[in-house]
Amino acid sequence: MSTASFVPADLAVWLDTHAELLDSSAGHAREIVPRLAAAGLFGIGVPVTYAGGRGGAATDAVEAIAQVASHSLSAAFVFWGHRTFIEYLLHSPNAGLRETWLPQLLSGEIAGATGLSNAMKYLSALEPLQMKAEPVAADGSGARRWALSGSLPWITNLRPEGFLVAAAFDHADSGKPSIFAVPHDLPGVGRSADLDLIALRASNTAALKIEGAQLDERWMIADNASTFLTRVRPGFLGLQCGLSLGLARRALASVALARPASRLALAADAEQLADELARLTDQLCMGIAAQTYVEDASNLFRLRIALASLVASAVNLEVQASGGQGYLREQSAVARRVREASFVPIVTPSIVQLKHQLALHARTE
Ligand SMILES: Cc1cc2nc3c(=O)[nH]c(=O)nc-3n(C[C@H](O)[C@H](O)[C@H](O)COP(=O)(O)OP(=O)(O)OC[C@H]3O[C@@H](n4cnc5c(N)ncnc54)[C@H](O)[C@@H]3O)c2cc1C
Repeated sequence: MSTASFVPADLAVWLDTHAELLDSSAGHAREIVPRLAAAGLFGIGVPVTYAGGRGGAATDAVEAIAQVASHSLSAAFVFWGHRTFIEYLLHSPNAGLRETWLPQLLSGEIAGATGLSNAMKYLSALEPLQMKAEPVAADGSGARRWALSGSLPWITNLRPEGFLVAAAFDHADSGKPSIFAVPHDLPGVGRSADLDLIALRASNTAALKIEGAQLDERWMIADNASTFLTRVRPGFLGLQCGLSLGLARRALASVALARPASRLALAADAEQLADELARLTDQLCMGIAAQTYVEDASNLFRLRIALASLVASAVNLEVQASGGQGYLREQSAVARRVREASFVPIVTPSIVQLKHQLALHARTE
């Protein structure tokens, strides 16, 4: 993993100062994407041939998300949603869509959101697709056209100021689900009020409802959701692992700053977790760099499970190290990290889902 510092000092200070508010209220929600964009974070790992792309490896983008997560998981999860949408466009065969929207995504003018939990669960045979596409007559352009309908209960980075959301739609006619980029201002597209979350409240997380909204093939990210998702899954999951890396690092850093007596008592546990973190980080980077997770995702699933468990242990150690102080409101970073850590196992693919997949895989081997 790169040792470069991707988060400039002014952004780090802003994130640390506002981490509590970003978690507990939507007050500063509108500032997250513009601030991350101004720091050039969305262009990391994006080829320099695109305006706003900064080049670098895919693991640099993971590291950048980890660095933001060590300050605020709300901001890091917004970063993940936005950057994952960018990743979809980079992998899409639809060059027109990419060329039209990439510059505005990299500059933070429009938000990218990924509503693909439902599709991921569908592909793992966990639930039916909740969105449908019905063919309609082409307009003057001659492009194939569909009426889209359905709803998705959870999507982050649905900025009221403007978003594009990736969602998968079932095609009754072809039987092959596809993925569209749905723009916020399309007639028939509606966003709920922010969900009443216990944490990450500045993440612009809401439900999406689509009723008869019409799009043509120029908005299609991929016409075969299954093959596309298999290809982008390592990016999706790898970037998501950045959330765990950052959170675990920050919790362990906080243990290292505890009172000497606590530090000494917990030193062996802290060292073991730090070693485990270093080992998992190396494994993640090597797998992403060698692209081994495209063909066989099971090791990446195991890594995500191990990282979620590591985050829980690291945050638990931070709770022990801070003692009664951590139970005081003014020491709320400890309590915030406990809430942030509870999000790690439930975001798709959830730990339950991954364990289920690995068990199925083991049975078919
Ligand atoms: C703050 C927040 C932000 C989110 N942002 C997004 C977003 O941007 N985009 C997005 O697409 N989603 C998002 N989600 C949704 C998230 O990724 C998960 O899909 C959701 O939290 C899973 O919860 P659930 O209630 O759907 O789980 P349930 O479907 O109730 O399942 C409970 C658990 O069991 C597992 N499970 C379900 N069925 C089975 C089965 N048959 N066999 C084995 N295991 C099973 C599930 O994976 C889950 O772990 C967000 C959620 C939260 C809380």
